[in-house]
Amino acid sequence: MTDWTAFAAALGDIPVITERALVRQKSRDFFWYSPILKEQLNRKSADIVVCPRDEAEVIATVALCARHRVPLTVRGGGTGNYGQAVPLNGGVVMDMMALDRIIALEDGALTVEAGRKLIDIDTATRPMGWELRMHPSTKRTATIGGFIGGGSGGVGSITYGGLRERGNVLSARVISCEETPRIVTLRGDEVAAVNHAYGTTGIITQLTIGMAPVQPFIDILITFDDFMDAARCGLTLATAEGIVKKLVTVVADPVPQSFRGLNVPRGKSVVLAMIARQSLTAFGDVIRIAGGTEIMAQDAVWAETTPDATPLYEYTWNHTTLHMLRGDKGVTYLQCLFPPDRGLDLVAKINADLEGELMQHLEFQRSGGRVVYSALPVIRYTTPERLTAIVAHHEDNGILIANPHFYTLEDGAGHKRVGADQPAMKARMDPHALLNPGKMRTYQAKEA
Ligand SMILES: Cc1cc2nc3c(=O)[nH]c(=O)nc-3n(C[C@H](O)[C@H](O)[C@H](O)COP(=O)(O)OP(=O)(O)OC[C@H]3O[C@@H](n4cnc5c(N)ncnc54)[C@H](O)[C@@H]3O)c2cc1C
Repeated sequence: MTDWTAFAAALGDIPVITERALVRQKSRDFFWYSPILKEQLNRKSADIVVCPRDEAEVIATVALCARHRVPLTVRGGGTGNYGQAVPLNGGVVMDMMALDRIIALEDGALTVEAGRKLIDIDTATRPMGWELRMHPSTKRTATIGGFIGGGSGGVGSITYGGLRERGNVLSARVISCEETPRIVTLRGDEVAAVNHAYGTTGIITQLTIGMAPVQPFIDILITFDDFMDAARCGLTLATAEGIVKKLVTVVADPVPQSFRGLNVPRGKSVVLAMIARQSLTAFGDVIRIAGGTEIMAQDAVWAETTPDATPLYEYTWNHTTLHMLRGDKGVTYLQCLFPPDRGLDLVAKINADLEGELMQHLEFQRSGGRVVYSALPVIRYTTPERLTAIVAHHEDNGILIANPHFYTLEDGAGHKRVGADQPAMKARMDPHALLNPGKMRTYQAKEA
């Protein structure tokens, strides 16, 4: 048994949180999107939260955890969806948000501490002409370290692909979990060892990422009478190389009825887009030919920086399901990747096959040089067995599922496998198997 009072004392003046309610709050993320994970993770909590203020304090915390063989789960903004930052076996949650300094911005490459919030990166770099290439729809609360540790892509991926595309994450400074922690710098392809690894393969203290030139983006909302017309319009926009854009989302009726503040008329499906001002005429041509109706436009930077305004991206990606969940606790979601060679016909087939249970939501993005359709459909939840059958139906049709109803890397977001380099990295960086135990299933024997 760990004596937590003595543990906190051994940390000297590094800030800690021991108040039970707050510790429990800092042990949670958005796992409750899944009725299955809600059941499994609702009562999990750390014993103590440690809040280092710089890399030296991270190293001191890690060394103490290693000496006491205490589980250590790293946390950024705590906005992950699959219990990624939930400690399964208690121990320490290490809150990284005080490591928030910008180190350098040179030639479009930003070096930044892992705990800086994504919105605060753009606020600092936009005056210098650079902004994030991509961010999750949780930009206003999530950290850059948590995005690399737990995310995959998002707003901006229609131009730059996902986080894993070469050139998006240039290097990472990572701390090993040992009595005498080592600092390891990963460059280029090596970064994949910590990318989307849920903090199981090392603690990221600093990142260098590729940035994008600032563009004046406009949030635009378009309505359609028919979902497939909206989907075809989305695909036309997504593949229009000359139109500078950051977001192309398509959401089927009746989900937009839950978008508070947008006042989407009943019966309408929508396209939500972020388009650079210079491309508005070309965008207008696409919408006119597709038969859409523009019902809202706003300056994107104004919307994300003005109190009481809501950026359009906060209705897209995983926010879409959140809006539905606010008014209807009987829904959940899936994360799908449609095979691009089957076109939108497969989307139409799935919609028809699962009519009444599935409300479609497409996110167009680039991957490996082509436009692909990710989908985060809202699903009416009945039983675990039916959810499994819906997943199987997608897989039988050649659709990849990153199943958000599992908390392990292998079964959940990793398309059923851990990247080949991640177990090797874990062996190298976490010899006592203390980092976020239980999340890399192939390591459970050792952890036990
Ligand atoms: C409404 C909503 C919308 C979302 N939209 C998107 C989206 O568009 N795209 C997307 O990819 N995700 C999305 N997500 C998931 C999540 O918000 C993002 O992945 C976000 O970037 C996570 O950042 P965070 O700081 O909150 O990380 P946390 O939730 O705190 O952590 C995520 C994972 O990373 C690990 N981690 C955190 N910091 C570090 C570190 N310094 N070193 C090593 N590991 C670390 C944690 O242990 C955990 O496993 C969404 C979630 C919600 C609830």
